Amino acid sequence: MTSVGNDILAVARTGAPEDTNPEPLPPQGVCRFCGAALRHTFVDLGMSPLCENYLRPVELQDMEPFYPLHVYVCDRCFLVQLREYVSPKAIFSEYAYFASYSDSWLAHAQRYAELMIAKLHLSGESQVVEVGSNDGYLLQYFVQRGIPALGVEPAANVAAAAVARGVPTRVQFFGRGAARDLVAEGRRADLLLGNNVLAQVPDVNDFVAGLQLLLAPGGVVTIEFPHLMRLVEENQFDTIYHEHFSYFSLLSVSRIFDAHGLRVYDVEELKTHGGSLRIYACHAENHRRQTSAALADLRAREMAAGVDTLAYYTPFEARARETKRKFLTLLIAAKDASKRVVGYGAPGKGNTLLNYCGIRSDFLDYTVDRNPYKHGRFLPGTHIPIYAPERIRETRPDYVVILPWNLEREIMSQLAYIREWGGQFIVPIPVPRIAL
Ligand SMILES: [Zn+2]
Repeated sequence: MTSVGNDILAVARTGAPEDTNPEPLPPQGVCRFCGAALRHTFVDLGMSPLCENYLRPVELQDMEPFYPLHVYVCDRCFLVQLREYVSPKAIFSEYAYFASYSDSWLAHAQRYAELMIAKLHLSGESQVVEVGSNDGYLLQYFVQRGIPALGVEPAANVAAAAVARGVPTRVQFFGRGAARDLVAEGRRADLLLGNNVLAQVPDVNDFVAGLQLLLAPGGVVTIEFPHLMRLVEENQFDTIYHEHFSYFSLLSVSRIFDAHGLRVYDVEELKTHGGSLRIYACHAENHRRQTSAALADLRAREMAAGVDTLAYYTPFEARARETKRKFLTLLIAAKDASKRVVGYGAPGKGNTLLNYCGIRSDFLDYTVDRNPYKHGRFLPGTHIPIYAPERIRETRPDYVVILPWNLEREIMSQLAYIREWGGQFIVPIPVPRIAL
């Protein structure tokens, strides 16, 4: 694993190499939380384009950047992570994901808002802040109840949609800097939340330190993120993409919060995004909030599963490869029988899956998506065209591959009409199968 460049770096770090025997700095870098050298592969999905980089027709002739999708696990703190190959500025300044296009996600947001208003007795005197607030899909439910809410969102195009819906939103990346600005304006958050944003932060220490600064003394932080245990146990390798820098267990996230003066005191296991955790945290010195039984239980289950051992992580790659072979076998059989196969959805995870498996328009004629932003564009890497959902009724395909498999039931009921012509669904994860 040595190279001239690394030797130079090693010298720069340690001084004279002849006196010492410096360990070469590994090309894969160091852990973004604890700084230990990363040496252990979790899964290597090869080279892949940025999964939210939907191409316009004019861009199809251009060179397209691909980056390694090689995930490591830290052998000191067991944080599963991808190196920051692309800066968040490049990824998130214009973002194609509008949370409001999923009915089930909206319902989830509304239930959350009602739960938190009741639990924390939020009122017109309270302050709610959401980091990574997207298009205001969630904060709108607080605004409707007259509770002061503020979004912090780096993508200007989705932030504009939030403002149009009446949700005050700042276009900014969150971290210590943004937190200090808000505190200087006299704002502290009674409820500070972030859904599916923690994974997307390259400097996780700066982000969590920012949460600690912005949180009011008696306030509560809630953070939702996909649960690493679900990813491992349900073979969700396609939820790995360049935009997701970290993959958290309860144990690893608790360590990070502890290091920044926040104490995780409760957790809920949610069905969203294939299985997520919602953690509740408060200031370390806030003793009013007791550690819940649910937290102790999940901690014990993670320990029993071996989440804090390397052995937990090593078999994962072989399963991803096996899934690739099974998915291709299924699609090859369909194409050999002259069946027409299309996709449903154009989610990030679909792009990881299709690029890893080498599936292009030779297998999938097209895919469809409800988000008009994507219509007329093409999937990154595979260049599969994206249409509006009506295309499926017009072309009557034999198989529809459900790419956002976490919404399997919602999509199967929306598309129930494909059975009129004998159409069937293919669900790729955890094990590729034809779903009736
Ligand atoms: Zn580490």
